[in-house]
Amino acid sequence: MSTAVSIENFGLFIKGQWREKRTTTDVLNKYTQKVIAKTAVSEEQDVQDAVKAAKEALTKPFHPYERYAVLKKAAEGLRERQEELATILAEEVGKPIADSRGEVERAALTLEISAEEAKRIHGEGIPVEAAPGSENRQAYTKRVPVGVVAAITPFNVPLNLVCHKVGPALAAGNSVVLKPAEVTPVSAIVLTEVFEKSGLPVGRLNVVTGAGSKIGEWLLQNNDVDMFTFTGSPKVGQLIREKAGLRKVVLELGNNSATIVHKDADIEQSATLVAQKSFNNAGQVCISVQRVYVHEDIYESFLNKMKDVTNALVVGDPKDPATNIGPMIAEKEAMRVEKWVNEAIQEGASVETGGKRDGVFYEPTILTHINDNMRVCREEVFGPVVAVTTYNDVDDVISRVNDSEYGLQAGLFTNDLAFAMKAADQIEVGGLIINDTSGYRVDHMPYGGVKKSGSGKEGPKYVIEEMTEERIVVFNL
Ligand code: NAD
Repeated sequence: MSTAVSIENFGLFIKGQWREKRTTTDVLNKYTQKVIAKTAVSEEQDVQDAVKAAKEALTKPFHPYERYAVLKKAAEGLRERQEELATILAEEVGKPIADSRGEVERAALTLEISAEEAKRIHGEGIPVEAAPGSENRQAYTKRVPVGVVAAITPFNVPLNLVCHKVGPALAAGNSVVLKPAEVTPVSAIVLTEVFEKSGLPVGRLNVVTGAGSKIGEWLLQNNDVDMFTFTGSPKVGQLIREKAGLRKVVLELGNNSATIVHKDADIEQSATLVAQKSFNNAGQVCISVQRVYVHEDIYESFLNKMKDVTNALVVGDPKDPATNIGPMIAEKEAMRVEKWVNEAIQEGASVETGGKRDGVFYEPTILTHINDNMRVCREEVFGPVVAVTTYNDVDDVISRVNDSEYGLQAGLFTNDLAFAMKAADQIEVGGLIINDTSGYRVDHMPYGGVKKSGSGKEGPKYVIEEMTEERIVVFNL
């Protein structure tokens, strides 16, 4: 006799109401591949209703101290539901439970920082009287909300990256229409329940789930959407940029992150951090280490230590506290990674460890004897694969790091001040991390890339600049 399993059905959240739909999408547990939830599939009318509700909400006051209180309460609400949310993340993403708990804690912090920033949005006095003929004038600027913000988010960090958009957008006085990733929408829906109980005014947050391409298109066609904030692949980012017209767009896209390990580096520390940040979340992190350039003097000992750390990583059930690496998001993604690694091997790469796929799992894999033109180096792998190679000249390694279409973050292990300063000047990225890997991030720092990695910054303080317009007010006295 089979036991009936109740699978929760989640509706859309529009104008403060949950809206059930007949058509739903199955959300899978990425480890067991069993259905854990069903989410409503939006139709065009739902998306139009969501935008309308967001626009209407802007007509009612939502003062900074109220935004602060709501965001603070939502942060507490997330913490109260930490274990439930961590379990959801472990299931819907396949993220190890310790990392999932960490994501919930970071998400709460992101909302808390957004709450604090809600009280600090300000303009400045502008000395217009300094211009001849303006002696009797005075001016100041103020930052006003952009209006309706459409937020579109990826699968890999589905709670904290949603908070990085919703938190600052609300803090700045905007309304939001959120479209979470199809394969990992449940944590965002629970976040919405948390906001509902935190006193958020009706219409300030609306959630539409379903197919990204359709919802994206309906949002792009709706001129009541004032701004798009998107985190995801460069392909979709570019499409949004092209179709958004003159509206504001913030894009947080991919990377093939490099980390340099110089000859004076602490081998134990650097090899451990590089191994951890190459395989974290099965490599499905935008700042995951993908290319490692090690000075030839320390290459052998660095590689041996990195292999030891990698071989000790436990691959398995994300809900088992011993697990370091869970499944990839889908078998087709694991098959793509397998194909890219096999292609590299055919082109001369050696597998130092890993290199095998088992269904949706791909082993943490270190490749050597690579060249910079292989797909595993040039494109974003977004899987647990890292390519390790050597260099002997500082200028040469900087130009190899820069020889990339991407530029999100890079890491450099060295205590050589001259090299560090040169790298800070010359490496073309949004963030350079000295004595850690490209994978370092805290939630209040400015975060965002150059080149194909996107445009505009996140981090509540910085994205609030993007989510507000500067207005100058001039008095003729
Ligand atoms: P994706 O581009 O496939 O999907 C992202 C979101 O866009 C999803 O919600 C999806 O439904 C939606 N979407 C899909 N087609 C669309 C369309 N035509 N119009 C509008 N929306 C559409 O990305 P993904 O696979 O979910 O995430 C992986 C990518 O995200 C990687 O490239 C990774 O580097 C990047 N990423 C970047 C950051 C960052 O902060 N820079 C953080 C995390 C992930």
